[in-house]
Amino acid sequence: MKVLILGSGAREHALAWAIARHPSVQKIYVAPGNGGIHHLGEIAENIPFKADDIDGLLKFAKENKIGLTIVGPEQPLEKGIVNRFKNHGLKIFGPSQEAAQLETSKAFAKSFMRAMHIPSAAFLVFRSHEEAAAYIEAQDEYPQVIKASGLAAGKGVVIAQNKTEALQTLDEFFNKKIFGSATETIVIESFMPGEEASVFAVTDGNNYKLLLAAQDHKRIGEGDTGKNTGGMGAYAPAPIVTPEILEKVEKEIIQPTLAGMKEREMPYQGFLYVGLMIHNGQPRVVEYNARLGDPEAQVVLPLLKTQLLDVLLAAVDERLDEINLEMLPKSATTVVMASNGYPDKYETGKVITGECHYEPSSDVAVFHAGTAQVNGTLQTSGGRVLSVTAVAETLEKSISRAYDAVAQISFDGAYFRRDIGAKGLKKS
Ligand code: ATP
Repeated sequence: MKVLILGSGAREHALAWAIARHPSVQKIYVAPGNGGIHHLGEIAENIPFKADDIDGLLKFAKENKIGLTIVGPEQPLEKGIVNRFKNHGLKIFGPSQEAAQLETSKAFAKSFMRAMHIPSAAFLVFRSHEEAAAYIEAQDEYPQVIKASGLAAGKGVVIAQNKTEALQTLDEFFNKKIFGSATETIVIESFMPGEEASVFAVTDGNNYKLLLAAQDHKRIGEGDTGKNTGGMGAYAPAPIVTPEILEKVEKEIIQPTLAGMKEREMPYQGFLYVGLMIHNGQPRVVEYNARLGDPEAQVVLPLLKTQLLDVLLAAVDERLDEINLEMLPKSATTVVMASNGYPDKYETGKVITGECHYEPSSDVAVFHAGTAQVNGTLQTSGGRVLSVTAVAETLEKSISRAYDAVAQISFDGAYFRRDIGAKGLKKS
């Protein structure tokens, strides 16, 4: 079978790596891919289509008889790629445009959660600056969490610590329009204390299977300080998600989510990412994403024992109940190596040297993100450059192996956090 994967990050490299292990896969195309995809061998190839070039990708998939397309990032979902591919009789794994609203419209997701009694923060939706500002003027309790309803590349959330900051945010969202149309509608919600974790399910609309829970490290600095990033590292399984909490997540969040989406005639098929805030043993939803997380995918997928391709095909064919999803009884850690200056301005074109490739059977994998092959050398081409992953019997060993592998790689200005997984070690 030929498989097409959409996206260019380490998440998509990890998807390609997991799919490549299936014996009946002949070819994997990644659109547009990155400088590490060819490490998977001749089986894998980058193709020069943007992940949201629906017309181009549709033509390519038909001409090349693609057996399954897997959507990595959210933009093609928002544009309705799943609807288009399915209308043309092509198999594609991901939610429809309507179902993806769980991620692409926070106003939709919050109203849906309220209707389904899914635990989350109290909220209000605003469509005008005046009304939102009047609401903020009347608030005395801070922080207040102000969110762009639409997609804003993970930057559309401000935790305002006081009234001045909240009013300034509203000005930026509604008047300066720093996130364009993503802030035509905004959500203001109450602040939830606690610790964050992510739970992932694969669903076929009716049935679901859980992957392992993971913890991301969103801030640039050690000890979770400094600016927000796309994610600087992750580990799985996350001990904060105890069996008791997971049971609550299934009963109070995942099951009603799938039932509610089905009732609304937009059954949810794809990866469902539930971002949680856990406080005093109670999980509440911070956000849904309609895809796997990056960097969480880089730890969750290497811990999957069952063939990923079999799972995704079963989901697309709505027979996920036939699958016995098994995990390796191990831990995984991924450390993101970023360009100096990220998440602000950074330079690209730095030559990367060292050990950037391991056999797929190895317990270390270097998943590429902002890399490109330029005249036969591997160079940096983005903010997050590599995601260095190790699998081991314990979390502690997976952390030290991941950092050993990081030490074998260098490029000018390489930055990485040195405390990935430390919060998990404290709990295990
Ligand atoms: P992502 O990049 O994760 O998709 P996003 O832009 O969709 O981000 P959210 O995940 O909703 O935004 O929020 C970003 C971060 O802000 C969360 O990971 C969490 O740390 C914090 N946050 C969001 N909502 C709340 C809340 N109600 N209470 C406390 N913290 C919150």
